[in-house]
Amino acid sequence: MVIVMAPGASDADIDGVVAHIETHGGQAFVSRGVMRTIIGVVGTEDVLETLDAASLPGVVETMRITAPYKLVSAQNHTKRSTIRVGGVPIGPDTFTFIAGPCAVETATQTLEAAQMAKHAGATLLRGGAYKPRTSPYAFQGLGVAGLRILAEVREEVGLPVVTEVLDASDVDVVAEHADMLQIGTRNMQNFGLLQAVGATGKPVMLKRGLTATYEEWLMAAEYIAQRGNLDIVLCERGIRGFEPSIRNMLDVSAVAMVQRLSHLPVIVDPSHAAGRRDLVVPLAAAGIAAGADGVMVDVHPSPETALCDGAQALVGEPLDELARIVTTLPPLLGRTSAAHLAG
Ligand code: PEP
Ligand code: MN
Repeated sequence: MVIVMAPGASDADIDGVVAHIETHGGQAFVSRGVMRTIIGVVGTEDVLETLDAASLPGVVETMRITAPYKLVSAQNHTKRSTIRVGGVPIGPDTFTFIAGPCAVETATQTLEAAQMAKHAGATLLRGGAYKPRTSPYAFQGLGVAGLRILAEVREEVGLPVVTEVLDASDVDVVAEHADMLQIGTRNMQNFGLLQAVGATGKPVMLKRGLTATYEEWLMAAEYIAQRGNLDIVLCERGIRGFEPSIRNMLDVSAVAMVQRLSHLPVIVDPSHAAGRRDLVVPLAAAGIAAGADGVMVDVHPSPETALCDGAQALVGEPLDELARIVTTLPPLLGRTSAAHLAG
């Protein structure tokens, strides 16, 4: 951290800042210039977090030099990471296609959706057994029965499963059935849940909060990493905007920017961003062009009967189109399809 003093700061002001740093366990390095004095601070994350130098007399500005997130930061990594989910890689050299129903409704619907996903080239199956619904009257998911269906469909179709966990008390049972645990947008800052999924050692997909900054998102990932689990994939799924015709705004800048800030893979979920089927393919293409390491979409054998998010579920022609795009576009950007490297 660097503390910049005002041009007229007195020796007493400078001594006061040095004393503040040393009282909190840090080391101060004072460099006196002609115009102004700059104080460098060296200390652990705990020390830097407790400093409150901005309000001291004579201080104009305090600036952090290193990111407050350590384990997930790109600063200490020469190369971006590849995470493996049941043998399927997600990382900078490959492109991973994840598809499946928004919610597990029945065994037949889940099996059909998984077959559609596989046919389209997906190598991981998504599907929610626990659903975070805005309305408490809406379908909440099948719970453990849904997890069992996912595990059966994985055996039958051969795709590893990613599924959401909403509550820390369900983490163990979800981890027993799934290959990857999803933290949804509404739980991005549920710190107890983040620590609990981190402790399972299973790969985690961390969706970006509805209004989260990149730093808040990466600090949430740091909670998981701090429990010894660096198998984390970040998922940009659209942020809250002001335009009513789309559900959320897919932030493609997040893909490019967060890949510079962190070594973790970043994928996009154009389905939950768009909220409507006809925008899913163009948004997926935009995410791929921005450098996403993968894409996750909703598919459903009969979207008109879906109990959750039918309006955005792909079936038929748009799914065929997406299948073409995920096989043709990533190789133009130097990536191989994860399908060739799976299992
Ligand atoms: C989902 O992927 O099923 C989901 C609920 O997504 P989000 O948390 O991004 O809304
Ligand atoms: Mn959904």
